[in-house]
Amino acid sequence: MSGLFKTVVMSAVIHQRQFLNPEALKALQRRKLERLVAFARKRSPFFRDLYRNVPERGFALEDLPPVTKRMMLESFDSYVTDPRLTLRDLRRFVTDPANIGKRYLGYVAYHTSGTCGEPAVIVHDERSFGSMRSVHMARGLGHRFRLSATFRRLREPLRIAAVVMDGGLFPGFCGFFYAPRWAGLISDIRIFSLRDPLDRLVSRLEEFRPHVLTGYPSIVAQLAQERLAGRAKILQGTPDDLVACLGESLTAGARSLITKAFPCPLSNVYGAGECMVIAQSCGVCGCSACRSRPDSGKANVMHVNDDMAVFEIVDDEGRPVPPGVRGSKAYVTNLANRVQPFIRYEITDVTSRVEGECSCGRGLPLIGEVTGRTDDPLSVAGRDGGDVLIQPYWLMVPLIGFDEIRDWQVRQTRRNELTVSLVFAPGRRVETPVVEEALRGSLRQSNVDAPLEFHVEAVEAIPADPVTGKIRRIWSAIETS
Ligand SMILES: [Zn+2]
Repeated sequence: MSGLFKTVVMSAVIHQRQFLNPEALKALQRRKLERLVAFARKRSPFFRDLYRNVPERGFALEDLPPVTKRMMLESFDSYVTDPRLTLRDLRRFVTDPANIGKRYLGYVAYHTSGTCGEPAVIVHDERSFGSMRSVHMARGLGHRFRLSATFRRLREPLRIAAVVMDGGLFPGFCGFFYAPRWAGLISDIRIFSLRDPLDRLVSRLEEFRPHVLTGYPSIVAQLAQERLAGRAKILQGTPDDLVACLGESLTAGARSLITKAFPCPLSNVYGAGECMVIAQSCGVCGCSACRSRPDSGKANVMHVNDDMAVFEIVDDEGRPVPPGVRGSKAYVTNLANRVQPFIRYEITDVTSRVEGECSCGRGLPLIGEVTGRTDDPLSVAGRDGGDVLIQPYWLMVPLIGFDEIRDWQVRQTRRNELTVSLVFAPGRRVETPVVEEALRGSLRQSNVDAPLEFHVEAVEAIPADPVTGKIRRIWSAIETS
């Protein structure tokens, strides 16, 4: 109960803090950054060396050299601030589904999907994970967890349905699965598997009767489609109803479908495995300012959590871009995580600053739509000739489960032919039939019933897309009708 009390109070503080003026928020951000940098220098040999020419005091943000995922992974054992952690042991831990529900030396650990590059291994200390939870409660879910609502929640817990990729230690899954015990007093968080066929997923959701439906926009949009077609009765119009999208960019198409199907606010949370709540949309808190906005909960701008993270939108050379101009990547600093410091850490998401103040009164700066984080499902022909969709996760999960595979790509080369390119770790290999069977097994489990041909090949490296400069993990090289 004390954990619940602490988090509710912290959530109340975090809720109030977003209405501070921008200068006060920047000052708070600066204080937290200085503390984090000092800690990283003291405890991480990697950062001590990286910052050897950076003054101890009065440094500018740009004085801190950016860090890439490759740098972090290559120096992992000296990068983290707890010397007991090693990449080898952690990788083994996070790729073994038997560890779901367990902590590693007291830390929550998971791996990112690797849809935007090599999978990263992430560890969170309790402080980092707890603050993520509070931000989500206070800002992503709005009034549903306000202090005044807590007593009501004790009588009727908020039912939250999280439709995420399960079966492994993935960020979205862990964010919900590792809820503390007290969370059960005020909320009933139920995880639904993305791997379930749609009709089974719908009937399980109908049975649960959630107030909050949360998940990747692609699956929420599919559920919206089902609702519009009269095949799903999800979210039946209570004042607590909310749809919260996370984990992928919310495209204009998905947004319009979701807002059409669900008569409730839509919250969009933007985060990365390295920093789970970078920004979120407003218009969900239920205050009069939000309610009076004509585009309440629908606008695709988000408030950056300046008090929890530093988010810089930069060009190819790492220089900040002016408001309104899309950057080509971003640097994120997670101000809460001490065990694995992410300071000016490069992520490949693309977005732009939006100038001006939001009518909701929050002092947190605005960004526009975030792109570069989604893989489209592949459309193949089913046994009856009809279209069958393969969600990227179903192909991704078995591949990232192999320790031996360092990098990979799946290309649809013909309607029902998939070419799987694999980069093996030095001196290691997985036989083709083993890879193929893992992929077929995952598709069977996801009820994909289509005759498919796989071509598995070993390659030296996965080339980046010449247009975007990014590696696309799963994509179709054919024109689909
Ligand atoms: Zn706002």
